Amino acid sequence: MDSDDIITACELMGLAYGPARGLHEGNISIACPIALRTHGDPNDANFSCSVSYGGGRSLAKCFSSNCQFHGSFMWLLKQAADLRPNNQRLQAFMEAFRKSEKFDATAHLASIEASYEPDREADKPKPKVDPLAIPETSLDGFDRVRHPYAIWRGITQESWDRWGLSFDKDLQRIVFPVRRSNGTLIGLTGRDVTGLSDRKYHNYSGLKRSEVLFGEQLLVQEQPLVIVEGQIDAILVDAATGVSAVAPLGEGFSPKHVAKICEVNPPYVVLFPDNDPAGRIQASKIAHSLAERFFLQLAVPPPGKDPGDMTPDEIRECVENSKPVLGALKWDG
Ligand SMILES: [Zn+2]
Repeated sequence: MDSDDIITACELMGLAYGPARGLHEGNISIACPIALRTHGDPNDANFSCSVSYGGGRSLAKCFSSNCQFHGSFMWLLKQAADLRPNNQRLQAFMEAFRKSEKFDATAHLASIEASYEPDREADKPKPKVDPLAIPETSLDGFDRVRHPYAIWRGITQESWDRWGLSFDKDLQRIVFPVRRSNGTLIGLTGRDVTGLSDRKYHNYSGLKRSEVLFGEQLLVQEQPLVIVEGQIDAILVDAATGVSAVAPLGEGFSPKHVAKICEVNPPYVVLFPDNDPAGRIQASKIAHSLAERFFLQLAVPPPGKDPGDMTPDEIRECVENSKPVLGALKWDG
């Protein structure tokens, strides 16, 4: 493969690429062809992937910390083509090259260290370890069967699986994994099901609540989103409306929470707070943080109720009837 071939592959996939350094031998930076599957942002258009080519061989390396693909470009293209099964021109292109260029993964991996020439140090983002990450094994030992309390609250099996919920038999709590938008697990919170605990929610691992919005791993780029107060509200709203819902896990709405929403760039944001004094105050804070940046709507539950107390139909109706926020929040009709 030479630079023209790599560029052709990118164009077939609609991916951005940088200038090629050399035609038959050199390197080129491209948007990662498998970002769809391996990057926190599936539409990541940064030139995170560096491809070197020449001598009948092409080697790709992705510097995205989630992805870190390392192998032949043909191997990368094979995976990219699998992600785009309907792109027949891409399939045909790949087939043509598969015959002329060996892309056995093991053979290429062995040769990578010797022949791969990275771009200038300054060009490449450094893969970094998330200091707040906790191991996935933190979830081991919890019961994965949907607990009767969850059923009673209206959490369907589909939602139970979608949000990765489990049950802690020792503490008698529904366990909610808290993940960053890239999927990294950074905390667990548990909701008491007995009604006997003095703390409704338990924070298992010193989670920094200002760092993350509960549910941000399920947000969809450029799509509307709903902001609610609690985990169960988020899960029920997501299931009832099909619109992603997130919850700040506490009273504050931090600059990182704002930044996360800016990253997603939703066309509008629906505030759907608890309709009680604390909920109203919290909604006003959030509205204040977001008002200059996004088109805001307010959905108001019946007085004294949380979104989590409502049926799916009631939730849908409430969100559909949300009103634009123009200045102060209006809590009635
Ligand atoms: Zn990548």
